[in-house]
Amino acid sequence: MPDMSMQNELLSLSNHELTDLVRRLGHPAYRGRQVADAIFRQRRDSLAGVSNLPLALKSQIAHEGLSVGLPRIEQQFRSADGTVRYLMALADGQSVETVWMPEGDFGEAGDGSEAGQEELEQLDSTCKPKRTDKKMPGLKGSSASPTQVRSIARSRATVCVSSQVGCAVNCQFCLTALLGVKRNLTAGEIVGQVLGVLRDHAVNLERERMNIVFMGMGEPFLNYDNFIKAVRLLVEEVGFPESRMTVSTSGIVPRIFDFGQEPIRPKLAISLNAPNDTIREPLMPITRKWNIEALLDAARQFPLRPRELLTFEYVLLDGVNDAREHALEAARRVRGIRCKVNLIAFNPGPGVNYTMPFQDRVLEFQTVLADAGIPTFIRRPRGRDIYAACGQLKRTVS
Ligand code: SF4
Repeated sequence: MPDMSMQNELLSLSNHELTDLVRRLGHPAYRGRQVADAIFRQRRDSLAGVSNLPLALKSQIAHEGLSVGLPRIEQQFRSADGTVRYLMALADGQSVETVWMPEGDFGEAGDGSEAGQEELEQLDSTCKPKRTDKKMPGLKGSSASPTQVRSIARSRATVCVSSQVGCAVNCQFCLTALLGVKRNLTAGEIVGQVLGVLRDHAVNLERERMNIVFMGMGEPFLNYDNFIKAVRLLVEEVGFPESRMTVSTSGIVPRIFDFGQEPIRPKLAISLNAPNDTIREPLMPITRKWNIEALLDAARQFPLRPRELLTFEYVLLDGVNDAREHALEAARRVRGIRCKVNLIAFNPGPGVNYTMPFQDRVLEFQTVLADAGIPTFIRRPRGRDIYAACGQLKRTVS
């Protein structure tokens, strides 16, 4: 795909590249670190107010056509459960969505990381959120409302980030797919979404525990170089631990192999959604290019770190892939892979012809997998009322 993205933002440049820039403009190397501090740590949206930088350098940088490149928050929608969906305006007039989820959605639970351990502590012995009402909010067969979930702890939150404007993968259960793909995001636009949301919530990264999931609009592995550069910038410049990041792929097999070789990388989640190609292909046309066996082969070879588990995500669609025999088959397929499964009850939306599963089926699916020895968690739907939940990002950009 031609890359029509803007490449003139400082947020796409590492400390090293910023140092090269200021030296080329005739300034000492330490000015590069000062620029990096201002944009990545202080989250400035402009260098104008950065008092320790000389005016001459600021105007030279502007003269080069470079600006910070922090996306502008155009609109925000607040859910009853505390989730905030942001519409982020980019420099060329395009926009993407980014989601803030206080307390996460149990997507990390049981993945062997510190973030996963924290989530486990909030689940009861059946891997459901600890709460007095045992019904699962928002599902068919449940009377509980999303607001009945536990109160929100501010010391932990997850930012869900987009990697492309739209998406070309065309998963049939996903609203983003209806947009098609407009362009890749630059590394700076990916980092900028995180910084914009942290800035809006005045997050102190030293005191508050944040997670990042690359699960917003787009397929990160179809924008691989910019995605990986954004990860490095988040780790090295912003100070975000890689162990607190997870990327989800629809199954771009060659990139899974590349990703396994990265010295700095988030945890890996694979969007499986079916136990066999016959069911998966109509849901995820990408299966025609890389079928489930090729995908699972890449998963088997993926070099996991000590204690790390690979995550398989499985969106449950009523009457399509949510039967007991599907769970049994899925358990057989992933056997032998050090993994856990996240079940996501389908989030309905206009233009998508699936319906959400019944609570009983979701619980049975979980039980079958758990009985097969696979740690299986039910992702809590976040922000459904504002179209911020999985697969719902597009409402305000189409
Ligand atoms: S689910 Fe993800 S990969 Fe599939 S169309 Fe939606 S954004 Fe793209």
